[in-house]
Amino acid sequence: MIYLDYNATAPVRPQVIEAITGALADHGNPSSVHGMGRRARGVVESAREILAAMVGTVPETVTFTSGGTEANTLALRGAAGHCDVLMVSEVEHDSVLAAAGAMDLPLTRFGVDRNGVIDLAALDDQLSACAGEGRRPLVSVMLANNETGVIEPVAEIARLVHDVAGGLVHTDAVQGLGKIPMSFCALGVDLMSLSAHKIGGPPGVGALVVRDGLPLVPVLAGGGQERGRRSGTENVAGIAGFAAALEALEGEAGLAEQLGAWRAAFEDRLRAWAPDCVIFGADADRLANTTCFAVPGLTGETQVMALDLGGVAVSSGAACSSGKVTRSHVLSAMGADDVLASSAIRVSTGWNTSKDDLDRAAAVWSRHYDRWAGRNRPQAAAG
Ligand code: PLP
Repeated sequence: MIYLDYNATAPVRPQVIEAITGALADHGNPSSVHGMGRRARGVVESAREILAAMVGTVPETVTFTSGGTEANTLALRGAAGHCDVLMVSEVEHDSVLAAAGAMDLPLTRFGVDRNGVIDLAALDDQLSACAGEGRRPLVSVMLANNETGVIEPVAEIARLVHDVAGGLVHTDAVQGLGKIPMSFCALGVDLMSLSAHKIGGPPGVGALVVRDGLPLVPVLAGGGQERGRRSGTENVAGIAGFAAALEALEGEAGLAEQLGAWRAAFEDRLRAWAPDCVIFGADADRLANTTCFAVPGLTGETQVMALDLGGVAVSSGAACSSGKVTRSHVLSAMGADDVLASSAIRVSTGWNTSKDDLDRAAAVWSRHYDRWAGRNRPQAAAG
């Protein structure tokens, strides 16, 4: 099977499995004062240092969570008390939209252009209106979109939110981690969510970075772990696996460039084979590992099935919720009509992808396209 669904979850790296196995074999509770507990504490704190260094912050600002969903929920619920209104972009991940929708604060949304990029002028107007009414916003905007790979101008947005409305900014950086250079300090945000399983770490581990000095109301209360921000015995093995995945990123300096070149060749091939193929966000800055495309009327579901039968795993629509076939709110926000949005599939690559994987995927897809289009022509070669 060729796996091209890294934005859903990346294959777990061998060194991560090793780190997890090692930590599981050494079973102390990080809150225990005996030697085994202190060793477990060491694992957690060393992972915190590695993560902090990787994302340009200090260890004290890092809170480990059970993943990106919990980090997003903690960010919004935990910081809501500082603000009077919530503002989220229309292309946020479901975990942000659901958390925002379940809160008592008034909620407004801000949109994107046809390329999926936040409309800064419209956001500026909304922020000015907020400031005019004396309301302080908590703004949530993702660093990179899970469906299209489009990268948002988060640093500019953070500046606007702080300068125009004195608000707080949260960024869901789950898809940005390891794919683009990013620094909590340089982005200038107040809160940032991360997840391990998008970079070849284990699922079920993530982190929330919280600006120093910003009080946060915990969602999980109890033993007071993680400086009281997130109670519950730490997932030591998962955290060790997260750290191992982060360390592996250090040896992958040229990967994004490589994946970007392969994606460009893949997209050229799609366009040549199917001139009616639309590539979402093609004119925006995108993660090098992601392409989301559609041929109007060729449904995403049948493409995913045809590719699966051909030995290639990809996603249709919002892949984090694979299995439920709903129209993508992201593509709708970008102006795609129902037919186009339901025809989209996403191919996403990563640390273990080869050029041959993409060539073979393109060949399987071309065959499916031709069958659908009723064409009969010599098949694309795999290479
Ligand atoms: N945010 C984004 C942008 C995602 O792609 C995902 C993917 O699942 C999440 C949040 C949720 O992260 P997790 O699966 O770790 O809960």
